[in-house]
Amino acid sequence: MKANPNLYIISSVAGGGKSTIISALLAEYPDFYFSISCTTREPRPGDEEGKTYYFLSVPEFKKRIVDGEFYEWAEVHGNYYGTPKGPILAAIREHRVALLDLDVQGAKSVKKLRPESVTIFIEPPSREIWIERLIRRGTDSKTSVERRIENGIKELDEAPSFDYVVVNDRLEDAIEDVKSILFRKES
Ligand code: 5GP
Repeated sequence: MKANPNLYIISSVAGGGKSTIISALLAEYPDFYFSISCTTREPRPGDEEGKTYYFLSVPEFKKRIVDGEFYEWAEVHGNYYGTPKGPILAAIREHRVALLDLDVQGAKSVKKLRPESVTIFIEPPSREIWIERLIRRGTDSKTSVERRIENGIKELDEAPSFDYVVVNDRLEDAIEDVKSILFRKES
C-alpha cells in the first residue's frame, strides 16, 4: 500500500511526542520527505545542524524573510522558525509524501496556501500527563518550560481546527493512528 502523496502537517504542544512520531515514520518510510526548518533557537543536546534544524542568527533569518526564502515562518516561544521554500516546493512537484513539523500558526499558514494538505494535531492524553512529560524531558530551562506550558495551553485550544487529532497515550498506538491517516483510502 502507498501513502497518499500530500503535505502532512504535524503539530503538537511541546513535549507532545510529535518528534518521536515523525522519527518513527521516517525510519519506516525512508522515501518520505521531511522538511528541515530554519530556526534562531539555540541547539539543544541531540540537535544536529542540517539534520534537525538549520541554526541561523536573527539577522540571517530576517534577511531570508526579506528575500522570500521561506514557505512559511512564525515566531514560536520567542524564537523564529521557518520552512525553506525550495525543498518543499520540489517535494510537492515530485508528488512525494511530505511531513512538516510546524507549530499551530505554521499549520494554519500552510493549510491556507494548500487547502488539500492534511493537518494532524498530536494531543497528550491529559494536561497533567503532558506537563509531567515536558518537565521529565529535561531538555529545556525552567523559563523555557514555563513558556512552553503557557503557549501549549493556548495551542491545545486550537486542536479542533485540525483535520485530525491523534491522542498520544501509548506511543505505538499514536504512530499507528498517524499511519492510518497517511495510508487512508481516499473517498
Ligand atoms: P522546538 O524548538 O521544540 O524544536 O520547536 C518549537 C515549535 O516550533 C514546535 O511546535 C515546532 O513544531 C515548531 N516549528 C519547527 N519548525 C517550524 C517551522 O518551520 N515553522 C513553524 N511555523 N513552526 C515550526
